Amino acid sequence: MGKVVSYFKSLLLLELLGGLGLTLKYLFKPKYTLMYPMEKTPMSPRFRGVHALRRYPNGEERCIACKLCEAVCPALAITIDSEQRADGTRRTTRYDIDLFKCIYCGFCEESCPVDSIVETHIHEYHFDTRGQNILTKPQLLAIGDRLETEIAERRAADAAFR
Ligand code: SF4
Ligand code: SF4
Repeated sequence: MGKVVSYFKSLLLLELLGGLGLTLKYLFKPKYTLMYPMEKTPMSPRFRGVHALRRYPNGEERCIACKLCEAVCPALAITIDSEQRADGTRRTTRYDIDLFKCIYCGFCEESCPVDSIVETHIHEYHFDTRGQNILTKPQLLAIGDRLETEIAERRAADAAFR
């Protein structure tokens, strides 16, 4: 009996018509597809994109070269060299992040005692040549300088959950 029903279903193209009916049903409904990159989905303040190093309002870099981020990084993506300054404070002389190794876990951000290394909302970037995957300290500070207002806002929005 099942075979007979199946035969007539095939003969009358019922499944095809059912599929076409479903297409017709959704043809004039609001679309779910976003026209990226003109349209974008909302982004959480916790989004973990490309990194930045932050400064204090007086321009002093926050990082104290404690190397906690380097130690906690599961991908060994961070490389830090440091030295002591004349005033006795310690600062990095080198702070590299290899974005090919990074898995954007956020551990570096979580471990930093002075909110220096953070992950921004930037996720649309590319590299043209070998070596551009290494973000250096000046590049990270420049990203931080450019996005500081936004970084501060996002961290404030998420402060209750930290
Ligand atoms: S996000 Fe994770 S993998 Fe990337 S640099 Fe930070 S700790 Fe390392
Ligand atoms: S970014 Fe933060 S955790 Fe990493 S070395 Fe600097 S102060 Fe320490």
